Amino acid sequence: MSELVNVAEIFGKNVFNETVMRERLPKSVFKKLKKTIEDGTELDPSIADVVAHAMKDWAIERGATHYTHWFQPLTGVTAEKHDSFISAPDSEGKVIMEFSGKELVKGEPDASSFPSGGLRATFEARGYTAWDCTSPAFIREDALGVTLCIPTAFCSYTGEALDQKTPLLRSMQAIDEQALRILRLFGNTTAKRVVPSVGPEQEYFLVDRAKYLQRKDLIYTGRTLFGAMPPKGQEMDDHYFGAIPERIGSFMKELNEELWKLGVTAKTQHNEVAPAQHELAPIYDQANLAVDNNQIVMETMKKVAERHHMTCLLHEKPFAGVNGSGKHNNWSLTSDDGINLLNPGDTPHENIQFLLVLACIMKAVDIHADLLREAASDVGNDHRLGANEAPPAIISIFVGDQLEDVIDQLCNTGEATHSKKGGKLMTGVATLPDLDKDATDRNRTSPFAFTGNKFEFRMVGSSDSVAPANVVLNTIVAESFKEAADELEKADDFDMAVHDMIKKLLADHRRIIFNGNGYSDAWVEEAVRRGLPNITSMVDAIPALTTAKAVKLYEEFGVFTKAELESRAEVEYEAYAKAINIEAKTMIDMAGKQIIPAVIKYTTGLADSLGKVKAACPEADTSVQSELLIETSALLSDMKVALAALEDITEESLAIPDACLCAHAYHEKVVPAMAALRKPADELEMLVDKELWPFPSYGDLIFEV
Ligand code: ADP
Ligand code: MG
Repeated sequence: MSELVNVAEIFGKNVFNETVMRERLPKSVFKKLKKTIEDGTELDPSIADVVAHAMKDWAIERGATHYTHWFQPLTGVTAEKHDSFISAPDSEGKVIMEFSGKELVKGEPDASSFPSGGLRATFEARGYTAWDCTSPAFIREDALGVTLCIPTAFCSYTGEALDQKTPLLRSMQAIDEQALRILRLFGNTTAKRVVPSVGPEQEYFLVDRAKYLQRKDLIYTGRTLFGAMPPKGQEMDDHYFGAIPERIGSFMKELNEELWKLGVTAKTQHNEVAPAQHELAPIYDQANLAVDNNQIVMETMKKVAERHHMTCLLHEKPFAGVNGSGKHNNWSLTSDDGINLLNPGDTPHENIQFLLVLACIMKAVDIHADLLREAASDVGNDHRLGANEAPPAIISIFVGDQLEDVIDQLCNTGEATHSKKGGKLMTGVATLPDLDKDATDRNRTSPFAFTGNKFEFRMVGSSDSVAPANVVLNTIVAESFKEAADELEKADDFDMAVHDMIKKLLADHRRIIFNGNGYSDAWVEEAVRRGLPNITSMVDAIPALTTAKAVKLYEEFGVFTKAELESRAEVEYEAYAKAINIEAKTMIDMAGKQIIPAVIKYTTGLADSLGKVKAACPEADTSVQSELLIETSALLSDMKVALAALEDITEESLAIPDACLCAHAYHEKVVPAMAALRKPADELEMLVDKELWPFPSYGDLIFEV
């Protein structure tokens, strides 16, 4: 038995949270800071020094030697630059530990070394990190020692956002303002803020670290670029929710404890569909905290896995042929007086406020499906969305039977008079209780599913930040709320106006609702008939960022300027080309230096033994050896041809100066050339002696963790 954990005692232990602040800050300072955090007002600069000192003392008592501004540039991972607290030595050679308000509030990393899509040239390198006091500081304990981490936003000298957090905070302001207008229309006078709540479910793989280190593809790209399927895949459905093996269990236990210490509400854990795949979900939180915490979850997973001699793979598709990993983004809107705007209640047909919110969300998702799709694009997710695996790349909304029925009533007769009920679930076993059923079943194939009191956006990739998806959701819904409020605030007869508006919105945007099987080919055809976009790759999704529609939307709500959008598009094209370039070069390396030499060794061995057998016994049947020799040699020569082709096309693509054209070349030419090289290599893996194969197989990696 492992040692017992007192969760209540360790939870939030490493966070400079409200309790700590109340204890350690003078009352007036605490009040001011709390007001800033709760009301979203500007920070009073005069209190920064006091907060900094309290934070430093608290951190040093816990063994901290360094602090860092912790931010989320457009690299997909977090960044940090550590400074120790020590001052310059005095005349006696003694140092003291220092940390000023200025150091807390502002940092100055070199902006030109982070992706900026042309916003920053190397000669104009200044960039600033600014303390986001709405996200608490925390201390991290790892091999580096103890570090005080201060969540910050990252902007350029001229104020453009260079990170994930700044636009997220801007979009939260936008939805707050517009959602409050909707609440006011329905007579709510008490709510002061509406905040998007987000619960991201994180999928991941764990593999043995020693085996991982034998695979250059995993090391350089996070996914396997070669690998034949083992005799068993996920067809038995025996991994999903399966019993958790001891090694994985000890990892999960430590992960939970580390996360709890950091105030992350790790809640649900289970095995996922693919062998070696697992999931962790925290309890939902306000969007910016959820985004930060998800970064902490990903970082902590990697660290804890290492301590257990495993590697955590966050890539969307580490292994071909079994499921990849995603990150379901659960999203709802909650007011500070406790109302979830997405809660339909028991009788949604009577809940006019809910129906208006639902109709506005349908409109937003229908009009801006391309932006949602773009937000879920990353290089790894191309293997999932619209490719071999779900969810599909077509954006649609699942609302379930109950709401679809209400929508039908409203669209067909103009009135909704009843809501379907869930009824009882009869188990047929006398000793089991009859359960109350939900009014609606789940639909696992929908990219955007209503699940009771929230929407679940299922497209985000497992390695990606959830910030972009929430920036889009917050802003597009803010827009449709605004358009509704503009009209309804002017209406003479509010009840009539809102009723008509709901009917119109539902009728206009009905096409976005799809309750059927999103994985079927029939849906792809149906979506074409409905005029819904089906964007099947990242490079084709990126242009959504800079359409006139997107620029208007984002500029209206102050979320992105046109220049920021253009820079983000540029950053994404570059990220795509660079990632595929690394994959191609890794394949070239593995094929040329590992696989081909191994196969040559194998064929040489075969030829030797063929010769020896023939010499010893001329009448022996050596057809097996000769056939194998013929087959492997043919595949070997296919491989050589494919390798040369990949080398050429990669070199050509790399030389294309325009970021968009270059990314397209990688997508349309390099990716197929990689597949062409993989095919004979994977076939060879099935033929060549296991002892000679230069790296661990899929079976070794996913079944022997
Ligand atoms: P599922 O059955 O969908 O896989 P999980 O329990 O794995 O459910 O995850 C659901 C996630 O949704 C959790 O992170 C949970 O906290 C979050 N969630 C629940 N209610 C809300 C809500 N109202 N708004 C946002 N997220 C929510
Ligand atoms: Mg789940």
